[in-house]
Amino acid sequence: MPRGEAKCFRVPAVLLAAALGQRVRYGEVIVVTETKVSRILRSYLDKTPASAERYQKALRLFPSGVTHQARYLKPHPVYISHAKGSRKWDVDGNEYVDYFGGHGALILGHGHPAVVEAVGQQIARGTHFGACHDLEIEWASLICDMAPCAETVRFTSSGTEATHLALRVARAHTGKSKVVKFGGHFHGWHDYVASGTIPSGAGGPLGIPREVLDQVIVVPPNDMEALNEVFEGRDDVAAVILEPTGATFGVVPTGGDTLRALRDLTRRQGAVLIFDEVVTGFRCSPGGAQAHYGVTPDLTTFAKIVAGGYPGAALVGRADILQVMEFGESEGRIVDPAIVHQGTFNASPVSAVAGITTLKLLQTTDVIARANETAAAIRDGMNSVLRRLGASWCAYGEFSGVHIFTNPDSRPVSPEEIYAGKVRWETLKKSASTELAHKIRLAFLCEGVDVLPWPGGLVSGVHDRSDIDRTVTAFENVVKRLADEGDLAGC
Ligand code: PLP
Repeated sequence: MPRGEAKCFRVPAVLLAAALGQRVRYGEVIVVTETKVSRILRSYLDKTPASAERYQKALRLFPSGVTHQARYLKPHPVYISHAKGSRKWDVDGNEYVDYFGGHGALILGHGHPAVVEAVGQQIARGTHFGACHDLEIEWASLICDMAPCAETVRFTSSGTEATHLALRVARAHTGKSKVVKFGGHFHGWHDYVASGTIPSGAGGPLGIPREVLDQVIVVPPNDMEALNEVFEGRDDVAAVILEPTGATFGVVPTGGDTLRALRDLTRRQGAVLIFDEVVTGFRCSPGGAQAHYGVTPDLTTFAKIVAGGYPGAALVGRADILQVMEFGESEGRIVDPAIVHQGTFNASPVSAVAGITTLKLLQTTDVIARANETAAAIRDGMNSVLRRLGASWCAYGEFSGVHIFTNPDSRPVSPEEIYAGKVRWETLKKSASTELAHKIRLAFLCEGVDVLPWPGGLVSGVHDRSDIDRTVTAFENVVKRLADEGDLAGC
């Protein structure tokens, strides 16, 4: 077909092939008719040629071209050049309202001036002392002031390390071996938490010894009956770990009643209750989900916000449990701790100042309340759009979370029904097929909004009215674009 004709467009074959899941040679150019390829895909390709170019290089360097599974996007992700406040810009100059929020680390938005200044000064003073320092004391003291369960603290570099350590500490403390986790709950990627998250499409989880997987008991989320059954007739459960607001920051919601029941059960059974507050910590309230619900676990893991958007995390909790990491003394000789735990970047001074500055702002300002109000306004705006367009999706979420339920069965579902446990957890956790989820993200990106893959978003305290309006308008256009392409039943 001749170049320039209204009904045609040209794309590098490699991009189109990636989009359509086919393989072609480099350098080939294909001309396709408009009807053959999704208009959403076409606008995305038109808008992001510089990102596409970078992705070709990335494909030669990284598995699937990405450095984090959640950043994988077909035909290619956007490459971001800079960010400020609630916005970020890609290498093609496109501006996005950002709901990835540094994977949840940026409750203050990008480049908050107080954090930037504190970090800048710290870099000049020293980034790694390989020694103890005042900042680690100030940082841990703040955490202990804010989080109800925190009596003592051990810093790590990531949430994955923190949950790994939490389970090891719980085993060492109880002398028991088994761990209970809930289906769909995410706790990082180490061997003891790799099972029970969906999907495991390639037949995985691979690479984890059977003996390790056998130590983990996966229970359907919120199913106290199933959990009680697990405990019946056995006394080898060291710990129960969960995301306290439910899988993926409440995509599968868990209520206060479940948390209270879990607290009672684990106390009775002598198992350590671990709240994984890597996302909810300092987001649901200054004291995390545990302060909000008034349920105090034995141990808690924090990451993301705790380090003010820099790499850093912590395991905190009861001093009598964390004491398994203490050195001892016997007959005048030093005895090594029962737990081996080190880490080059534990309590990094740069992360410490970012964490201290952020936590103080969360303690003394209404940032968290503002993030929560903004998220509620976005959810309301999205639901008004859906009602007006007669679409069967719904937006839901608590605190500063926005989740979009894409309702694969098209049966009308309200947020209240989701909270009442009327929708199966597997459906909530993956309401959109991977293909649809990618298309939704592409459509949002075309509309100037970057959403999380489930699809959903994490709202910061600096998103404002203009972000709300832009997001709701973008959402309306996304829904219309998908309806146009036949991807939205009942619309
Ligand atoms: N726990 C939860 C609830 C998380 O959401 C995450 C990461 O997103 C982790 C643990 C792992 O944290 P990290 O990515 O810092 O290893």
